[in-house]
Amino acid sequence: MEITCDIAMDLVDIYTSGAASEETENAVREHLKTCKDCRSFFDSYRKNFDEQKKNQKKNKYIKVETSPYIADEILSESIKKLSKRMRTRRIISNTVGIVSIVMAVIFGIIDLVGSVRRKHAP
Ligand SMILES: [Zn+2]
Repeated sequence: MEITCDIAMDLVDIYTSGAASEETENAVREHLKTCKDCRSFFDSYRKNFDEQKKNQKKNKYIKVETSPYIADEILSESIKKLSKRMRTRRIISNTVGIVSIVMAVIFGIIDLVGSVRRKHAP
């Protein structure tokens, strides 16, 4: 049975993992004999497959593979959000601080004026 490159590449997963039927296997093998592109594709797929299998054996508990790029992006995104929140909080606390100082000064002046007036009262 002759197959096209598209079909061969569709079958790469089951072929590499050994789940393909004998007929499919033969068809893919026949195609790989004649097609250089698919051969290199299957080779790199096989290497990747073996690598993953090795890693799976090494890290039994790590099943989810996250690309470091994506992790970085998520991290920087959450840091951005956090720093934005922190900045907002700092502005609020600064404002509260300034307001309370102003209030203290005003009340202090009122108190001072009151006591001065009381002293000067006849
Ligand atoms: Zn091909």
